[in-house]
Amino acid sequence: MEKHEGFMKALKCRECGREYPLAATHVCEFDFGPLEVAYDYDRIKKSLTRAAIEKRPQTMWRYRELLPIAGEPTVGFQVGFTPLVKADRLAKRLGIRELWIKNDTVNYPTLSFKDRVVSVALSRARELGFKVVACASTGNLANSVAANAAAAGLKSFVFIPSDLEQGKVINSLVYGANVIGIKGHYDEVNRLCAEIAGKFGWAFVNVNMRPYYAEGSKSMGFEIVEQLGWRAPQHTVVPMASGSLLTKIHKSYQEFMKLGIIPESRYHVHGAQATGCSPISVAQKAGLDFFKPVKPNTIAKSLAIGTPADGFYALKVMKETGAVAEDVSDDELREGIKLLAEYEGIFAETAGGVTVGVAKKLIASGRIPADDSVVLCITGNGLKTLDAVVGHTGRAREIKPSLREFEALINAEGELSAAI
Ligand SMILES: *Cc1c(COP(=O)(O)O)cnc(C)c1O
Ligand SMILES: [Zn+2]
Repeated sequence: MEKHEGFMKALKCRECGREYPLAATHVCEFDFGPLEVAYDYDRIKKSLTRAAIEKRPQTMWRYRELLPIAGEPTVGFQVGFTPLVKADRLAKRLGIRELWIKNDTVNYPTLSFKDRVVSVALSRARELGFKVVACASTGNLANSVAANAAAAGLKSFVFIPSDLEQGKVINSLVYGANVIGIKGHYDEVNRLCAEIAGKFGWAFVNVNMRPYYAEGSKSMGFEIVEQLGWRAPQHTVVPMASGSLLTKIHKSYQEFMKLGIIPESRYHVHGAQATGCSPISVAQKAGLDFFKPVKPNTIAKSLAIGTPADGFYALKVMKETGAVAEDVSDDELREGIKLLAEYEGIFAETAGGVTVGVAKKLIASGRIPADDSVVLCITGNGLKTLDAVVGHTGRAREIKPSLREFEALINAEGELSAAI
């Protein structure tokens, strides 16, 4: 069965361990378990060292041996290596010693962490000979598939719930993608896409290409470790939609430890959701191994997956790493957006507000101790979800272009005179 492609050995069922060829397929025929890429770690160990990584260009592809393509990447060369920002002002506000923001609001080219998974999925789709790429998306994935497919000269179809934020819809249409709005929530979009993938033979990045796609998320964890000076943070707070990113952050730390790139250390990977769509967080807090599907009702649309494909595995990772999940209301997530903006100058989308809001709760309750190191994964840009904060920020004052009017304004408003 084994036929080496790059550093990949096979696709392997997470449940029964059966191996499959490295094709566009994602479930085990025997038990419907999800397939995952298996690597040849002995060979990887020989070529992937700290020194080798440090010499390479500053993109996610500097960890290339641990990403699932056979040859060189052909889509998304510039993706990743986003800033890891030391957030001292926010740390002080939240009452924690060491806080970092992994800032994927500025990921190239579509301002979310989805560019990581898409560059892997589309590079692999090309290796497998696909000409049409597609996805089921809560917004950011659609933007990234549309942009990266355009740059690669691939045709794209993106399927989204029809009630998405306008910013996310326009950000797919502008690249010339075929955008299909489905009158239903994400879980219905996803079910339809599974049928279309079977019938049309397209590369659906998060359906039949999911084993490759999901691996792209590991790059966020590899970068965190390297940018911290080759160590895993004690706590990482990760937003959860399907739960995939959380499981892959964990896998990235595990792989670096297994390869001897960093020493073994204890760490916790905590999960963040919006209360209006919190199947994983509810299950974790109740001490359950399985989640109950929900119907989403939150402004955090990028996280609004009621039947999370990796929810079961996300719960397992939290259990294994001694971590917890938490969720925040729409008002609390808005406050999270504002905290990050006002204390660190970073404008995140709703998912970022969820992550900050949850971190605040975990710190306040002592579940993240004040002396530990913490990284928050901020995954998307606030410019795409302006609707979420309209009416919840300060307002712009208007005056005529006259010094006298400005002075009158300052004198009239205590808030402005206090700012001088
Ligand atoms: C997709 C997405 C996530 C979470 O993705 P998973 O499905 O859990 O891997 C987090 N933040 C943003 C902004 C996203 O678009
Ligand atoms: Zn199986």
